[in-house]
Amino acid sequence: MADTILKNGTLVTSEERHRADVVIRDGQIAAIELNATDGADEIVDLDGLYVLPGLIHPHCHFRDPGLTHKEDFYTGQRAAAAGGYTFTIDQTNTRPAPTNLENWNAKRERAEKLCILDHNHYAAARYPEHIAELAETGAIGFKIFNTRHPTDTYPYDNELAVTDRGLLFELYERIAETDLPVSVHHDQSDWVKRMAEREYIDPGTTTASDLHEAYDRGILYGHGMVMGLAASLYLARLTGVELYVLHAGMMKEYDYELIRHAREQGQTVHAELELLPFMIDEERRAEHGPYAVVSGKDPERAAELIREGWATTMVNEHAPHTPEELEPGWEDAWNIPLALMGAQEHLPHVLTWVNEGRFELEDIVRLEAENPARIFGLYPRKGSLQVGTDADFTVVDMDRQREFTESMVESKSGWTLFDGETFTGWPVRTMVRGETVMVDGEIVAEKGSGKFVPREDCSARGAV
Ligand SMILES: [Zn+2]
Repeated sequence: MADTILKNGTLVTSEERHRADVVIRDGQIAAIELNATDGADEIVDLDGLYVLPGLIHPHCHFRDPGLTHKEDFYTGQRAAAAGGYTFTIDQTNTRPAPTNLENWNAKRERAEKLCILDHNHYAAARYPEHIAELAETGAIGFKIFNTRHPTDTYPYDNELAVTDRGLLFELYERIAETDLPVSVHHDQSDWVKRMAEREYIDPGTTTASDLHEAYDRGILYGHGMVMGLAASLYLARLTGVELYVLHAGMMKEYDYELIRHAREQGQTVHAELELLPFMIDEERRAEHGPYAVVSGKDPERAAELIREGWATTMVNEHAPHTPEELEPGWEDAWNIPLALMGAQEHLPHVLTWVNEGRFELEDIVRLEAENPARIFGLYPRKGSLQVGTDADFTVVDMDRQREFTESMVESKSGWTLFDGETFTGWPVRTMVRGETVMVDGEIVAEKGSGKFVPREDCSARGAV
């Protein structure tokens, strides 16, 4: 007797799609077969719908602990769950930050009480002497902020800033010994600060539209990120560390050449494609000002990077701040945090792109399930549709047309750039270990039902 059978859905892997029933027992996939005949406590008819492996959000800033006026594990995961995700990976700029074993364990314990999705967290690489102990925790990898904000504004915590390349090198040396990947926000902060002061801050050109211009010119989140990446690729080559490049696609396009070159030399370099800049056009940016700084990129270019395999993973980073924190940015834009929102809107947006023919559902599975699961040591337990693995699914309806509205926002920060936008293609159900978490946008899971899933031995994960 099965617990649940998913009937008549079309299963999608990174390679292909086929119709089959999924038999779930004890939280795992017990069988995948045509016309399953076992009895079950629950039969869910998914005729006309697509069943993807549960999607992984690899770039969440849930602000927990320490900055929970912006978000916390529960509200942030509600947003991710409504957006069709079944697993999240949290970033490190919390207070305290998980730079040592004690802080990391406290964060893990807190998350387990609040989460509704399975999850893991980055460990913060800041102190070489703590790298080995953090690697033993089961953390999926290390995060480094190779950056400081030009006016030292959060979310760039100065404690976490690794702008000294000697320290960066030493951290890479230690991390390489652990076989974990290191994810890096690259930058060349001295250059950014000097240019920002010369061109904008000193002359007093500080409105939101000035900041937009600074982004377009590559002064903020642009050339500095590429400079940082260039140096980091070399340090990674010297040390052999596995490098995961954050904010790919958001910085100036030369990241494409650098990463391709490094791969041609045999380096393992992953590129996390940040999609928000490709989703915000000039009109939307002008309307949302300080809420929509990184923007104006051609969505067809993102689609190319996805189709050709340059992008290893893709995401709308979840980096919320409150309207109270962002509103002053209409006039004083150099002293507000950078907000990037879209855990909830991401999947409807990319499903709409699939319907427009930009790429395929198989690409979504590759970049949002299989690849992140492999890189972060979760595969095949997560990110696959294999018998004997966790019964995590993201079920999507490619025909559903629905307007996204601000009233649907689950994030504590409470705003969206996409109020009134109609998307075609929606996640309609998610399951984690066989239990339904979200159905038709409604969250039905209980606080604390999400489990910490440790990184496993990397040997079985396979190449990305
Ligand atoms: Zn981030």
